[in-house]
Amino acid sequence: MKVAFLGLGNMGLPMALNLIKAGHQIKGFDLVQAQLDAFKLAGGVPMNSASEAVLDADVIITMLPASRHVEALYLGDSGLLATASPKSLLIDCSTISPKVSQAVAAAAKSKGFAMIDAPVSGGTAGAQAASLTFMVGGDVADVDRARPLLEKMGKNIFHAGASGSGQTVKVCNNMLLGIQMLGTSEALRLGVANGIDPKVLSDIMSKSSGRNWVLELYNPCPGVMENVPSSRAYAGGFGVDLMLKDLGLATENASDLDANVPLGELSRKLYEEHSKAGNGQLDFSSIFNLRAD
Ligand code: NAD
Repeated sequence: MKVAFLGLGNMGLPMALNLIKAGHQIKGFDLVQAQLDAFKLAGGVPMNSASEAVLDADVIITMLPASRHVEALYLGDSGLLATASPKSLLIDCSTISPKVSQAVAAAAKSKGFAMIDAPVSGGTAGAQAASLTFMVGGDVADVDRARPLLEKMGKNIFHAGASGSGQTVKVCNNMLLGIQMLGTSEALRLGVANGIDPKVLSDIMSKSSGRNWVLELYNPCPGVMENVPSSRAYAGGFGVDLMLKDLGLATENASDLDANVPLGELSRKLYEEHSKAGNGQLDFSSIFNLRAD
């Protein structure tokens, strides 16, 4: 299967490398030369432009930063819908607005393309280990066509529903994660203010009704857990600005639908405050230190 991979950043590069390891020939393109060099070093075929990369592709995978990049690459004057062959299956793995995702898929369909949205959960570690969770939106037949490739990059492939559904599920999941991180941080801070050892508190809450993913696997309080961002000054992991982007997608989506997400709104404001205080590049668990001084 000939695959074109566009967007070889923190996530896209290790995902593409897993396809190469699985024996596929991958042509790739990124706007940043250093990413193309790393791709070439690992056995990929770097191309000079997106349109060159997709020329004879059976499948085109995109992994781009945000909605506007996806709109530009697919719908622009010399974008994918104008340059690629409609026989290519389009898979967008970027995390973007469900509304934009649906619009791009509809435009693709009107030109004869099959397209699915397939955003991921699992971070850069999951991308490297090929253990990502894919949340997929689109027609069953197209999802089945993509499945053998997605299985080379991830462990769990979920079909959420029609076009845009993968993005909707991703937005709901990350809104919950952002809220959960804030709630867990608050509970830990309150315990510590009372003089309780945060490790003891975490152990007890992990076996009680406050139990959650953050508490058990991604503790935000320094010193409680090894090998998590809080144990290395919040370096690496999933950035505050990426969480802020996802909470923006959630609240924008809620506002479009008149859905009520007061905790999502409040969380977005708190992560924004934290980012504006200069913490945008730190891991999102650094929200533990919000207004700590
Ligand atoms: P990134 O910024 O590291 O990579 C994006 C890449 O896309 C960059 O290298 C950029 O140069 C390239 N790009 C932009 N426009 C392009 C174009 N027109 N043609 C070719 N390349 C282009 O971002 P990332 O961390 O890899 O994240 C990618 C997506 O995955 C985002 O939507 C993000 O929200 C989502 N995501 C990220 C994580 C994570 O932990 N980093 C986890 C889950 C989902």
